[in-house]
Amino acid sequence: MNSTSGNNISERIDKLKAELAELSEERGDSTARLIAVSKTQPVSMIREGYNAGLRRFGENKIQELISKTPCLPTDIEWHFIGHLQRNKSREAVRHATWIHSVDSLALLQRIDRVAGSEKRLPKILIQVNISGEKSKNGIIPADCPALLEAARNCENIRTMGLMTMAPLGATLEELHHTFAALRRLRDQVSSELNLALPELSMGMSNDYQIALREGATMVRIGSAIFGKRQSG
Ligand SMILES: *Cc1c(COP(=O)(O)O)cnc(C)c1O
Repeated sequence: MNSTSGNNISERIDKLKAELAELSEERGDSTARLIAVSKTQPVSMIREGYNAGLRRFGENKIQELISKTPCLPTDIEWHFIGHLQRNKSREAVRHATWIHSVDSLALLQRIDRVAGSEKRLPKILIQVNISGEKSKNGIIPADCPALLEAARNCENIRTMGLMTMAPLGATLEELHHTFAALRRLRDQVSSELNLALPELSMGMSNDYQIALREGATMVRIGSAIFGKRQSG
């Protein structure tokens, strides 16, 4: 068993939830949603999180998503948060309600097509590479309007907003800058295209407080709930 199991997990979750509520309220918004990132964690650990009240879990590998979902309660809302290869779109749509990581027109159109044939209506976010780091997935901000325009024309997708990841090792100032830039980009394209984009998925274990102050509506938190991962 993982050393972080036991009562600790529910205490950590309660504390996080209280913090999310408080920081969201400071902004005058409804409480941001907590996505518990369960990648690399065994089903038993996810069940502990579930028993402690979590209902939204995030996975970043299709294989893991496929193997875990059948073992867990059906009222869990699954979020796919990792890089998605086009040929895995069908599995993503079957097993996840949300896909946070749409980063190309080809992927968008593939998701739309398989969602139609699976009779699903996935909620998607466009992943944006705000910082311009070469290693990061996501489109550049300048490509955002065109991709959102294309998304608007997809019948089997609900486009909900934008997602980003902060650069590794970013300073406090860079973190604020990154998250604020995603919010401004959202505000700008939303008014340009007259398109509602209510969701901003940003913030992880080390930077969620900053993301919340900058307007995150969904935070993706793994290690601050489940403890350190062995890998992944
Ligand atoms: C792993 C992961 C997270 C969570 O990371 P932690 O630092 O453990 O909170 C969030 N988002 C994505 C896309 C991830 O891959």
